[in-house]
Amino acid sequence: MPVLENIKSLSRKELQNLMHDYGEPPFRAGQIHRCLYSDRCTDFQSMTTLSTSLRSRLSEEFVLPACSIEQRQNDRTGGEGGEATRKYLVQLHDGLAVETVLIPSPGRWTVCVSTQVGCPLQCAFCATGTMGFTRNLNAAEIVEQVLLVNDELAENSGKRQVTNVVFMGMGEPLLNLDQVIEAIDTLTCEQYRFHLSRHKITVSTVGLIPAIAKLADSGRNVKLALSLHSADQGKRETMIPSAADNRLPELAGALDYYGRITGTPVTLVYMLLEDINDSRDDALQLARFARRFLCKINLIDYNAIVNIKFKSTGNQRRDTFIQTLLDKGLQVTVRRSQGSSISAACGQLAIRNRPSSNQNA
Ligand code: SF4
Repeated sequence: MPVLENIKSLSRKELQNLMHDYGEPPFRAGQIHRCLYSDRCTDFQSMTTLSTSLRSRLSEEFVLPACSIEQRQNDRTGGEGGEATRKYLVQLHDGLAVETVLIPSPGRWTVCVSTQVGCPLQCAFCATGTMGFTRNLNAAEIVEQVLLVNDELAENSGKRQVTNVVFMGMGEPLLNLDQVIEAIDTLTCEQYRFHLSRHKITVSTVGLIPAIAKLADSGRNVKLALSLHSADQGKRETMIPSAADNRLPELAGALDYYGRITGTPVTLVYMLLEDINDSRDDALQLARFARRFLCKINLIDYNAIVNIKFKSTGNQRRDTFIQTLLDKGLQVTVRRSQGSSISAACGQLAIRNRPSSNQNA
């Protein structure tokens, strides 16, 4: 028996091509897309906006899988405003899984989505990098992480809705840029039941220069967060191997371009690591780098990862670091770590103990 194709692996453009091949009018592609991501149809027969014959043909040639939540864990330390950060193990269309995190804060429900199963970039501080790389997620699998968490919020309290999405989970989003852009388009489609403003979406990267320019030129105007962690080229390369091909002077140019094209300042994310990147000289180097374009700096704590030996900076060194940046006139925020007790904080996502037996890898 032939293996049927996953219809959700088709982009909007590919759906249009399919309808052309079927001899159907182009608007049918939009109808199918709406059935999948707004009406959330789970079988072809419930796509009642389509003709019976089209529904039958689709069901003969395609399957329509869905992601599902396989496991939930609440952060026992609680979160801001008393709500706990929650980590989900989400099963993908082919049985593989990724982690997704819900981060509550006053007036906000932020979902951190994964874009790859594992990651090929192997940053020294990151648990995901130790998993190796299996595959990119398709746009549907990225969108469904958000919709699943949103469903759960709505179930628990009729009013709550995801307010923000950050592409900061497992994987480097800019290595899967086409699917990330497709997912952004679906999540921001104003005609769909669930939709967000583009300004509520942040894409994070370790700094892949050509892809930063491509995202800027895409016109999506989402926020960009750069994991910098050091403004010294040599130090940065020891933490982020891909930095060797994306050097700081050219990176500053790409970030400047992004800010000018989108009109939004880039966020520089800097994880303070004791005796590695937390000296006054490190802060001065960061200030020199940050002055070259429109940005704000977000300092975060290191979250312990099994088998990776870094230490979080102490209070005194952190205060000196912050004051040095403030004295240089930079905008600095300090992000409190959330979700570290369940390995849901920055750099901690990795699948170690999967409960079910149906995983493929
Ligand atoms: S920090 Fe991001 S890019 Fe680096 S290994 Fe982890 S997931 Fe990949």
